[in-house]
Amino acid sequence: MRMSRLYAPTLKEDPTEAELASHRLLLRAGMIRRGAAGLYSYLPLAWRSLRKIEDVIRDEMEAIDAQEMLAPILTDAALWHQSGRWDAYGPELMRITDRHDHEFALGPTHEETFTDLVRNELRSYKQLPLTLYHIQDKFRDELRPRFGLMRGREFIMKDGYSFSATQESLQECYDQEKAAYARICERVGLRALPVVADSGQIGGDTSVEFMAIADSGEAELVYCDDCGFAADTEAASAAVNVVDGEAGELERVETPGCASIEDVSRFLSIPEAATRKALALIDGEGRPTVVFVPGDHEMNDVKAEHAFGEYHLMSDEELEQAGLVKGYIGPVGLPEGVRVCVDVALRDAQWWTVGANEADAHLLHAHPGRDFEIAEDAWVDVICAKAGDVCPTCGKPLSGARGIEVSQVFQLGTKYSEAMGATFADEDGREKPFLMGCYGIGVSRTLAAIVEQHHDEHGIAWPVSVAPFEVEVVPLDVNDDVCWPVAERIAGELVEAGIEVVVDDRKERPGVKFNDADLMGFPYQVVCGKKAIKNGNVELKDRATGERSEVSIDEVSRLVAEKVKAQRS
Ligand code: ATP
Ligand code: MG
Repeated sequence: MRMSRLYAPTLKEDPTEAELASHRLLLRAGMIRRGAAGLYSYLPLAWRSLRKIEDVIRDEMEAIDAQEMLAPILTDAALWHQSGRWDAYGPELMRITDRHDHEFALGPTHEETFTDLVRNELRSYKQLPLTLYHIQDKFRDELRPRFGLMRGREFIMKDGYSFSATQESLQECYDQEKAAYARICERVGLRALPVVADSGQIGGDTSVEFMAIADSGEAELVYCDDCGFAADTEAASAAVNVVDGEAGELERVETPGCASIEDVSRFLSIPEAATRKALALIDGEGRPTVVFVPGDHEMNDVKAEHAFGEYHLMSDEELEQAGLVKGYIGPVGLPEGVRVCVDVALRDAQWWTVGANEADAHLLHAHPGRDFEIAEDAWVDVICAKAGDVCPTCGKPLSGARGIEVSQVFQLGTKYSEAMGATFADEDGREKPFLMGCYGIGVSRTLAAIVEQHHDEHGIAWPVSVAPFEVEVVPLDVNDDVCWPVAERIAGELVEAGIEVVVDDRKERPGVKFNDADLMGFPYQVVCGKKAIKNGNVELKDRATGERSEVSIDEVSRLVAEKVKAQRS
């Protein structure tokens, strides 16, 4: 491919609307263009990468006997009524009406479609298990479409559905998909963590999200380098390393002006984890409540809503009304009518440092059962896990990271098959609903996530497996009768060897070419300049490492072809 013919309009300046590196660089490298909010065209370079991601997916699906097909994007409203999701999905579901007033939804995901597809023709347990999938555009009227391809209103998804006769078979399909999803991430160059989204009754997971690690990710994660445990901080039950105080008689100490955990811990020279943070709130039933959490942890809003319903933190006025002293609340001698709750992370904490319920004073060695009571129903799970907490699986310290959800596997059970009457005849002759699993990968989001992980200040640095082109040959002067023939020769040899090559044949200055080459980020650059050629060499640059070396003109194509082929997915 000649650069002069390639439709990849690069931008010199950063587009102002782009906050994320992937959004900015995909626009700048001439790979995507915005049509309207959340709607993008994938220009030729992006499309080449997307097809490579899809091919990796196809390959991995083939390996586990999942069969590719294609269902319509438009889905009949009747199906959504049967599953109950026409109403439940809410405004995210894009709905349209045809000329006969018949309603449809633009598929945001296709559980209904696939359940409907098989319900009349997949009849016997002998035909099971079956897994079908397709790769197509999906539509979601996101409240805030943003970050380029990360959160679009139209985006590419691979979604698959498995149908099984037994739970064991569903588990097997699910485990196979989960393993395939991990391999897909690896093959497209993504460092991703499988995060348990849902735990089953018997302890195993029934849903896992694959989170590509990136500072720009929306999810906050903790993970264990040692055993592979990973969880969303909001979902992880806090396995907190609670620091217990020293045993002793209840003791009151003056703590002037120490209304924050930070101040108390400094003043008393104890770690923040040894203090107890008190949060005063009004719970969903209007009850004044004080909840105690480890001093070095925050209460999480989502978890707190689970525990307290539609709660709110007390205002200064409400604190006063309840007889509570802001900054000095403790469990000993609380005013009448204030309920005490305690985060489960404090179950084993026996000696607490807490506020004394009067200004400028704290209590040391407060002991549950002796100095105050914790009712059986007072235990709540409201704090977020964080880096440094202990791994609930192996006890090692957890690391923290942010993540982008690129894919998710899910055991649906009989949710859709029961609602939609999709049954098969089992071995015993009885009609039973299918046990279903669903498996989704955001293909276009994966592209963006790859750029988030593979870029620097100059541009994208594609992993070979998903690079739009594998090598760029850069003749520094196309009018020169030394540079140009060498460039043409090397490009020809590479094409011959089955490598995907772009030759920058533009009459541009070397600086412009170098900048564009780094911006577009093809993995190898072969720079043909007069000086090196005089010595029989060209310069080879590895885009990802920045490493440059002089390589003989006769050797370079063989060497580069070898490198590329070794790194293909
Ligand atoms: P999110 O929580 O980010 O909104 P989701 O959990 O609703 O995503 P799923 O229903 O699990 O998404 O869809 C499967 C995959 O499709 C996701 O893992 C993600 O990669 C991708 N995806 C979902 N919504 C979008 C979107 N608006 N734009 C691009 N990709 C998306
Ligand atoms: Mg999801």
